[in-house]
Amino acid sequence: MKNSWLPRGAAILMNNRSQTLQLLFSRGVMSRTDIAHYLGITTAAVTSIVSDFLDEGLLVQQEAVLESQKPVGRRRLPIAINYDWRYILAIDVHSYYINIGVTNMKGDVLTERSLAPKGGTPEALCSGIAKECIKMLWESGISMEKVLGAGVTVIGPINQRDGIALHVFRLFDDPFPIRSYFEAEFPFPVAVENNVCAILLSELVYTDITEDSHNILMLKWGPGVGSAMAIHDQIYKGYHYQSPEIGHNLISERNGLRCNCGAAGCLEPTVSVDAIVAFIAEEIAQNPTGELAKLSNVLGTPTRKNLPQYLESDSETLWTFMQERAHALASVTGNAIHLLSPDKLLLTGDLFAMEPVKELFESQLQAINPRLQPDLCAMARASAGKKYAGAAAIVVEQILLPWKDLGSSARQTHRNS
Ligand SMILES: [Zn+2]
Repeated sequence: MKNSWLPRGAAILMNNRSQTLQLLFSRGVMSRTDIAHYLGITTAAVTSIVSDFLDEGLLVQQEAVLESQKPVGRRRLPIAINYDWRYILAIDVHSYYINIGVTNMKGDVLTERSLAPKGGTPEALCSGIAKECIKMLWESGISMEKVLGAGVTVIGPINQRDGIALHVFRLFDDPFPIRSYFEAEFPFPVAVENNVCAILLSELVYTDITEDSHNILMLKWGPGVGSAMAIHDQIYKGYHYQSPEIGHNLISERNGLRCNCGAAGCLEPTVSVDAIVAFIAEEIAQNPTGELAKLSNVLGTPTRKNLPQYLESDSETLWTFMQERAHALASVTGNAIHLLSPDKLLLTGDLFAMEPVKELFESQLQAINPRLQPDLCAMARASAGKKYAGAAAIVVEQILLPWKDLGSSARQTHRNS
């Protein structure tokens, strides 16, 4: 068996208990013997760790499988994470909307709803969201004891260690301690992370991607442009908790569009879903008898919501524009690839979820630099179709693994120890 797996929390000294869980989260199902092999410990040690987790219900025993097709093959008893052992309260904060939901430990949604940001101060905003969350838990009949923790994913740079949002674009300019605000409202712990870093973390937590790729660049296209990087299997943050920001590369010298980040001339406002919608609206206004105007008679005024339907058409005007925009994004991404040399470029977001858009981007990337490795791009898997996978992943990483590292009774005190 190939064994390039390294526990991701090695830098913060994880013990065999949480490494066993980490391995099971990334592999799904494994036998005790295979876990022992990966961790370099005895099968007896694994059996002891696993029996604790089986007793409390965090792990489940799967049906025995034959190791080989031969009738004399050894029987192996695979074990797996019981993803429904506890639930996760997921809170996803954007500039103009907030999604809240309850998921299992893999990000599968039990219930969810959407809110508009309210309150003139960060404290009022968080308190309002918390009240809606408690109402949602109450209405769904989910007891607080069943909730492992809240995962709060937020746009902009985040100090995830102390749970501080440093700059929530368009909502608040100043840093605020988002974790302590929420922990004052909930009877369970809270994990906070930047939304794109959290999506990338979900790939590290729930898939075996680190088997082959230790340095990963993630690019999110749709609705905005977001990016994050993992180096040596760890989410990379630089000065002041900044992530590599592909969307905020400067692309125009003068008269550039004003971006959410405050700067003028960034890439993002020229390639975002809103930019594409604005282009279609402008074309319709200028050519009332053109192909896009005809489409709008059927689909309605272009919006974020019906953009996928516009992109299902073969409108030459629209796809010529898309090719230009995909080229602009691919150029800047190509520069980032030169600087960061990732093993993998993971694609995610509403636009990449559309196959023709993803193909268009990849072809532009290859056209710019034909020497890129052919299997460089891949679609993100853990977060595909799961908007709360990132929130679930940060709760597993920041709350469950440190808790289980210390033993079952240490939940309430792990942060103070
Ligand atoms: Zn910007």
